[in-house]
Amino acid sequence: MKSLWSAGDLVASNCPHCRKPVQARFELRTVRMPRSRLSVPNVLVDVCAICENVLGIPSQSIPQLREAGMAK
Ligand SMILES: [Zn+2]
Repeated sequence: MKSLWSAGDLVASNCPHCRKPVQARFELRTVRMPRSRLSVPNVLVDVCAICENVLGIPSQSIPQLREAGMAK
């Protein structure tokens, strides 16, 4: 298991929007969770390199969200 991801890292992923295997890129983004009006800036997420949709949030970013009261 890779210890930590950093912005700019690339990973193979599946994009539900593109409906095919894509390359995902880790980026720092402001994340707003559903049912919350809070935004958390500079959260590392993986983003589809083709359609720019957020595909997921790596586990290393979860404590950051939890701290903001967004993830339980
Ligand atoms: Zn996509």
